[in-house]
Amino acid sequence: MGFDYKRFPYYSGKLGFSLDNGKTSFFIWAPSAKEVTIRLYDEGLWSDAIEERKLEKHSDGHFETTFEKNLDGIYYDYLIVTGGEEYITADPYAIAAGANGERSMVLDLRRTDPEGWEEDKAPERPVENIIYEVHVKDFTFQEFSGISPEKRGKYLGLAERGTRLTTDKNFKTGLDYLCDLGITHVQLMPIYDYGSVDELGDDMDFNWGYDPVNYNVPEGSYSSDPMHGEVRIRELKEMIMALHKSGLRVIMDVVYNHTYHLDSYLFRTEPWYFYRQNADGSPSNGSGCGNDIASERPMVHRYIVESVLYWAREYHIDGFRFDLMGLLDTNLIGDIRVKLDNIYGEGEKLIYGEPWGAGLTPFAEGAYPADKGALKYISANIGAFCDATRDMIKGSTFEFHAKGFVSGGNVEPHLWRNSVSGWSIEDWRFATKAPSQTILYVSSHDDWTLWDKLVGALSENESFLKKDPDLLRANKLAAALYFTMMGNLFMLSGEEAGRTKLGVKNSYNSPLFINKFDWQRTKEFKVLVDYYKGLMRMRKKMPCLLDKSEKAKDRILSSTIISNKTVTITLDNKEHERYKTIKLIYTGEAGYFSLPVDGKWYILMDGENPDMTDNPMEVENVVYSHGREVIMLGR
Ligand code: CA
Repeated sequence: MGFDYKRFPYYSGKLGFSLDNGKTSFFIWAPSAKEVTIRLYDEGLWSDAIEERKLEKHSDGHFETTFEKNLDGIYYDYLIVTGGEEYITADPYAIAAGANGERSMVLDLRRTDPEGWEEDKAPERPVENIIYEVHVKDFTFQEFSGISPEKRGKYLGLAERGTRLTTDKNFKTGLDYLCDLGITHVQLMPIYDYGSVDELGDDMDFNWGYDPVNYNVPEGSYSSDPMHGEVRIRELKEMIMALHKSGLRVIMDVVYNHTYHLDSYLFRTEPWYFYRQNADGSPSNGSGCGNDIASERPMVHRYIVESVLYWAREYHIDGFRFDLMGLLDTNLIGDIRVKLDNIYGEGEKLIYGEPWGAGLTPFAEGAYPADKGALKYISANIGAFCDATRDMIKGSTFEFHAKGFVSGGNVEPHLWRNSVSGWSIEDWRFATKAPSQTILYVSSHDDWTLWDKLVGALSENESFLKKDPDLLRANKLAAALYFTMMGNLFMLSGEEAGRTKLGVKNSYNSPLFINKFDWQRTKEFKVLVDYYKGLMRMRKKMPCLLDKSEKAKDRILSSTIISNKTVTITLDNKEHERYKTIKLIYTGEAGYFSLPVDGKWYILMDGENPDMTDNPMEVENVVYSHGREVIMLGR
């Protein structure tokens, strides 16, 4: 007989703390606990308790107590006696915490609102979603960025405007650089409180942050003062406000599938309830981290839904990227979709995730994984990263030397039609409802950067730093490929500038010299950056590529395989004022294409020039000599 989560009472009342009329109340759900004691502190670390008190237990499994005073600014933790064990724990429902998240904090959140926060709102919904993945620290850390020294590696570093490369006062960096790119969303790698970096430790410490400690508290190492719980909250809000003011929407990477350790605040509060177990009682390991969250259990469901809604409400977050979404259940993701739609309007907040796990996890009976197989059955506004398109373009992400189409691979006929329509390919062919569900990408924080992967597939001397013209062309082709497919677009910051991690495949805890965003290199690769900028401009003008509806597939008028290196596709672009039909030639060889003689054709993009829509060149036939490019024609 396994762990019977159904015997636990559901509790729908207040959790965490409440501050109201000079009174402070505390609430925690711990039905198995015999005794819960709260301990109050003046400081977030080290100091002795100034007061202790036992909470009163209720039949719905929650404990509660009220102090007849305003405890704003006071830190606290719990001593819980349960199952013959004694646990010291912070509050898993905490919204503020001291250094390293060890003690929770009572805080009047209105004290943390920067000036103008009440008026802060997301920029208008863009015509396309071009999502750019940023790590607060790696993006702002390098000295060449010109970001103020005390702000480098911090929330405020990403909020700073007017920064320029220290070696070239005309080259924009940081947030100014982002504003000019043409991206529409910044996806922040974990900004909740994670455990792998000591917030009071060395400034050179680095981690991606996929190790949650406090789900509803911002990470302290990005703040100027981790000792005072209100500071990180205010600074994160300042950063989000700066991004919004700069015309960018903000997406948060959320990791509800596992915690840093099994011995988490959730576990200490109610042992095992929040985690899936194997038949032998051991914690299941679908996450690769040895502790999978049991998202389908009622109080876990409540926890995750409320956490997402909290970030949307309190921090004005515009979208959520679910890490290993395939370990969460469809009911949870669907519920989050419905609740966000009800509050903010349909599809206003983006939701997407990785539609897989790292391994198998035992779902409870009646619960289904939010993986690829589920896309057809859930909202068309729940998206998923498309690994099949990714691998078709650049080669298997698991093999350094594997080739994809951009590195000389052949056209695989069954891949193309579905790929370009954003329905994606192979196992994805029948998997999605519409391009709205597809996240097209060729790089993310995981695995080799696109540039490093191209080095693996194409370069003989494996030089990551050299601006090799062959690799540059392959990189442009990779970008042109996914920028001319239907779906949402996603890229790792620096993909547009040949970002390299010197061949390191999994840099989650690599030092900053591997992980840093390199501003000098970004200037050196300006020609590639400019190509990406042009692709973004072109993309936003092409109705046939922007269509995310279920009918988008009807826009494909024809697709022809010319050879094992060249494919053409014709798309209905009727809403465009000038180019009603678009023809795309995807090629990995030099060649010649005779256009149908039924009208005047104009070249709108090629391997060198990604956006000629304002200055098109009339042609009767197309000669492509570069060997690797996407050519777009309009008629
Ligand atoms: Ca932390």
